[in-house]
Amino acid sequence: MIRISHHRIKCIGCGHCVEVAPNTWQMNELDGKANLILAKEKKGFYTLLTSDDELDSNLEAQQICPVKIIQVQKI
Ligand code: SF4
Repeated sequence: MIRISHHRIKCIGCGHCVEVAPNTWQMNELDGKANLILAKEKKGFYTLLTSDDELDSNLEAQQICPVKIIQVQKI
């Protein structure tokens, strides 16, 4: 199991996370920011627990995000 978190308010909408991890990210056409699919929001941070299958792609998203607002942890 992994935990992905997203500090969404700081998202600049570059789309890199969607390119490398399309199973867990999509662009929101209303505000141009990324959505972490099915994540729960708390105080501006969106969190998703998901399977290890998504680890490698989301580690890449964590690395590639230009504003460093994606965190991935193995739990
Ligand atoms: S890579 Fe980062 S800044 Fe770019 S869309 Fe994804 S979360 Fe937003």
